[in-house]
Amino acid sequence: MKIICIGRNYAKHIEELANERPENPVVFLKPDSAILPKKNPFFIPPFSNDIHYEVEVLVKINKVGKHISEKFAHKYYDEIGLGIDFTARDVQEECKTKGLPWEKAKAFDGSAVVGEFFPKTQFDLTALNFQLTLNETLVQDGNTNQMLWKIDELISYVSQYFTLKKGDIIFTGTPAGVGKVSENDVLVGIIAGKEAFRIRVK
Ligand code: MG
Repeated sequence: MKIICIGRNYAKHIEELANERPENPVVFLKPDSAILPKKNPFFIPPFSNDIHYEVEVLVKINKVGKHISEKFAHKYYDEIGLGIDFTARDVQEECKTKGLPWEKAKAFDGSAVVGEFFPKTQFDLTALNFQLTLNETLVQDGNTNQMLWKIDELISYVSQYFTLKKGDIIFTGTPAGVGKVSENDVLVGIIAGKEAFRIRVK
């Protein structure tokens, strides 16, 4: 399986990192080795002094598809989840400055937290609330109605480039409020009031 991630999909997050608003979705990949095994803590990697959390709504692809039209995109997923796109912000800044690819900053082992998935029928996907708490303090509070590109648009867009396969996961971008993690932090993700993951940082 593969993980397809969307960057800069929430206007306020674009502002907080002083990025330009893109004309098209920003897309990058994480390999399956990036997935943090269930119940494992997240270990801060030795190559970064600035690991950021980014809470994101996840979409699990349920069948193979290529060149999917926006109109039919809803047929390609049944489950929605929540996760974290851990980012080595210092490494990413260096990559961005040099015009280099982002993989070292975004695709390292453990960088993809994949929480519990829920049937999409439980949610109103046009206005789905999700939160991240850090040590019981609310740090990110998003809603899918703030997305620049909606889930079905993203599926249509990325499937022009990558054949989607059953089990692939799309990370749909993070809202404002990203920040640094430290040892012994506890991160809890909540989607529509349900806890989707609980991660301890080591
Ligand atoms: Mg992200």
